[in-house]
Amino acid sequence: MEPRKRKRPSKAGQKESSVQSYSVREFFAEFPTDDACLIRVMEVRYGLRHVCGKCKTGATFHKITGRRAFACAACGDHIYPCAGTIFEDSRTPMQTWFYAIYLFIATRHGVSAKELQRTLGVTYKTAWRIGHQIRDMMTEPARGNWTER
Ligand SMILES: [Zn+2]
Repeated sequence: MEPRKRKRPSKAGQKESSVQSYSVREFFAEFPTDDACLIRVMEVRYGLRHVCGKCKTGATFHKITGRRAFACAACGDHIYPCAGTIFEDSRTPMQTWFYAIYLFIATRHGVSAKELQRTLGVTYKTAWRIGHQIRDMMTEPARGNWTER
């Protein structure tokens, strides 16, 4: 196996090489819907199966249709995996958030609000807010950890 070259790629090749580890196609295969994104948040923060805080049973949690919530299979208690995250209280679809995070990770050099507006198809105001919150999250390791693959 060839040793990894530390040399930086040329300016022209930079865009391509920075995303080759995880392509846009792979992103949409892994997160085809808002629910897929929400399930990932649930998996990482609580686990789809865990000891329920209410009934103390090792139970499976199912996504509740139309809500960003999961219900305990044993007692029906609800869990909101987005509570305390940047997705809480946001009307922006989960997949849009995830894609924005993907862009930040893939490009490494940061993404401007204008770029987010164009790529995500949201208003400038929304793009600015999303970018701002992702930047904050990524500089706060404790909260940013779970977004890492
Ligand atoms: Zn329960």
